[in-house]
Amino acid sequence: MDKINLWQQTLEELRLIVSKPIFQTLLSQVELISLEKNIATIACPNPYIQSLVESRYYSLIKNTLDQKTKGGNSLVFVVNPGLVKKSNKKDERNGPLFNWKEGGSLGQNNSLNPKYVFSTFVVGNSNNFAHAAAQAIVQKPGVAYNPFFLWGGVGIGKTHLIQAIGHAILGKYPELKIFYCPSETFTNELVQSLQKKTISAFKKKFRELDVLLIDDIQFIAGKEYSQEEFFHTFNTLYLAGKQVVLTSDRRPEEIPQIEERLISRFMGGLTVDIQPPDFEMRVAILKAKCQEKNQELDEQALTFLAKTVSSNTRELEGVLSQILTQASIINEKPDLEFIKKFFGVKSKTQSKKASAKKIIFMVVKHFKIKTADLLGVSRRREYVLPRQVAMYLLREEGEPLVKIGEVLGGRDHTTIIHGVRKITHKFTSDSNLRHEIMLIKQSLYE
Ligand code: ADP
Ligand code: MG
Repeated sequence: MDKINLWQQTLEELRLIVSKPIFQTLLSQVELISLEKNIATIACPNPYIQSLVESRYYSLIKNTLDQKTKGGNSLVFVVNPGLVKKSNKKDERNGPLFNWKEGGSLGQNNSLNPKYVFSTFVVGNSNNFAHAAAQAIVQKPGVAYNPFFLWGGVGIGKTHLIQAIGHAILGKYPELKIFYCPSETFTNELVQSLQKKTISAFKKKFRELDVLLIDDIQFIAGKEYSQEEFFHTFNTLYLAGKQVVLTSDRRPEEIPQIEERLISRFMGGLTVDIQPPDFEMRVAILKAKCQEKNQELDEQALTFLAKTVSSNTRELEGVLSQILTQASIINEKPDLEFIKKFFGVKSKTQSKKASAKKIIFMVVKHFKIKTADLLGVSRRREYVLPRQVAMYLLREEGEPLVKIGEVLGGRDHTTIIHGVRKITHKFTSDSNLRHEIMLIKQSLYE
């Protein structure tokens, strides 16, 4: 079988396995360019797609290819920017995905924050897929991915990105009618229009848009009339080929008290998540924010800060602001020394370390199990998860592995490493668990 045929067959099979958006955005964009001595070289159009395909679909592609070639292949992914898939003529997304003029005009009544544009959005491992998809939408609103559903925890850039889409579309297509609002605004305006008997104006306003950007759609949960109205708005826009972008703090199917028919609409396009920034990204974000503020932090100070504040971008930005303000008030240089002092002072006055006892107590309370079961040996799921969460939290508080093993009923440190890893991994992929852990963390310092 020749290379082209082999790849076509492999793709056909992959198409059946993965979701349509994944296939279109990722797998159909890459191409087998050589297969020699069981080394398959696969070309990707850009580094984003390369890293995503490699990290998420390596084994899937390998297994499919191995079946076809009846052998074990190793895959090598390379970036080949000239790659334009011939088999993808219908795909409208080719073209300069990554450069356009960012818009200056804000349109009427849009309440877009001028800070939230693409040029100030730092791209890294945790958000590159979302960023690439957002840019594809700007190129062809209503065509590439509709709806675009963006989800992730607090403070990680959902609002920034959805507004960046708004700015950029306005810049590129000033004639389009774009509206951005949090979902509460949608609800409030609906209620007002009912009171004032202006419901038809309300309907008209939303249904005649070219681009509707709704932030934090999860707040529509439990509001039946809003859901009903939103459903019809959505359908009207969708059928007319208008772009809808939604953000949420969790996946569509995890939003409680929301109608099935809405969930299935939300999932009908592309669903992408943003994860909390990793260390390298946190450094990059700090650098960008310093630049915005015309301030400078040396490498050591940046590294320390990025290591110390690891939760989300909003918090990172907040802490940086506080540090810069304090430093300028007392006219000191915000160097490593200063930043250490900043955290030192804070930790004395505010967050003193949570004790192991308290962590165990809060975990047990949160999961509604008995302490004896948490510390015991049962492998039942309802105990294993809380146990691993306790390991994770104790580790986050800086407890040594051996001590964690001791306080959790005399466990081996390798068990602790395993548990901490497991939760660390789930923390980024499982938004429910992340939420639960955040709740427990909050309770530790109350
Ligand atoms: P969310 O809506 O997910 O809760 P926001 O979009 O409000 O988070 O982001 C919180 C803050 O962090 C904002 O000030 C935003 O500009 C900043 N931020 C988030 N992600 C990034 C990023 N990738 N690059 C630059 N700033 C970011
Ligand atoms: Mg937000």
